[in-house]
Formats: sequence, C-alpha cells, structure tokens
Amino acid sequence: SNPTAAEQVSARIHVIPDFPEAGIQFQDLTPVFSDAAAFKVMCEALVAPFAGRFDILGGLEARGFIIAGGASILTGAGVLPVRKAGKLPRRVITETYELEYGVASLEVHEDELPAGSRVLVIDDVLATGGTAQAACRLIERAGWNVAGVAVTLELEGLGGREQLSDYEVFSLLRA
Ligand code: AMP
Repeated sequence: SNPTAAEQVSARIHVIPDFPEAGIQFQDLTPVFSDAAAFKVMCEALVAPFAGRFDILGGLEARGFIIAGGASILTGAGVLPVRKAGKLPRRVITETYELEYGVASLEVHEDELPAGSRVLVIDDVLATGGTAQAACRLIERAGWNVAGVAVTLELEGLGGREQLSDYEVFSLLRA
C-alpha cells in the first residue's frame, strides 16, 4: 500500500545526536527538502487542516521559509517572512524572547499586510514553543490574526503545545 504523508516525511528526517551541542537531538529535514515528492506531501499536509482559514503563510526563519514557499505555490497564498533581527530594511515590529542561553528577536515589516490578515505560522520543528509564540505575538501586535501554527515535527515534553494553548497547533509528526 502507499505510504502516508507522515510515513514519507518521517523516513527522510535524520536525527543527529549532540548537534549543535551535547544533549540536543537535532532533527534534520534537509533530506525531505531535497526529495520533491516528500517535500510536496509535507507542504500539502501542513496546510490541509487550515484550508480556507488563512490568507498568508508566515514562514519562520530559516527552515520555515522553505516550507512556506512550497505551500505558497500549492495554495496560492503568499509568504510573510518572519525574520531574525536586523534583516528587514523598512519599519519593523520586534518581539524578543528567551532562549536557553540569552535572548533572540523576530521581526516583520509593520505595514506588510492589511489589518486582519489571517496568518498561518509555519516552521519545521516545534520544541519549547518560544519561537512560534514570539511569531504569534508579533502577528497580533501588527494587527493581523493567527490562523494557527503548523509544524512538520513536534518534540513532545518540552511544553511547546502548552505555550501555544491560545492557538490551533497542527504537527504532522510527533517525537
Ligand atoms: P523552540 O523555540 O524551542 O520551539 O525551537 C524551535 C526552533 O528551533 C525552530 O525554528 C526549530 O527549527 C529549531 N529547533 C529547536 N529544536 C530543534 C531540534 N531538536 N532539531 C532541529 N531544530 C530545532
């Protein structure tokens, strides 16, 4: 029988122990991106639960950009790049969040979308949820709405889904 989308994608995720530091099991999706059929079913599966309920795909730098780009061509919705600090040239809104060591910031152009635009947040991996939560706050501060959060892989037990309890969260795979 044909493999499911989850099976096709899961077979191409490589887990690298202790990268980039000891204790982290790095989930490497590059083999999914390099396989056009697996990449397509992944993009389709991430947007399907939100069909008709979003206007634009909010890709989180950097791997979320790739998935949002693929999903854009499949759905006809554009891409909102949610960028790391200092990359966007016009007036931005900035949201700073805690990392295990230190802080990070995400930014969007404040005037990128019409008020009330429904943004589907897209990323490869959901861990603590800090990154996606910052993106959601940024979208709301800009006057837009969060349609939901869609990730390829949810790492359970790190509190990501709990941190995002205000939002609909879909993960294709859980580990
Ligand atoms: P977090 O903010 O803790 O949910 O982390 C999510 C962000 O960090 C995403 O943009 C992921 O790409 C990346 N990330 C976190 N943990 C991992 C992991 N174990 N493997 C690959 N990427 C990860």
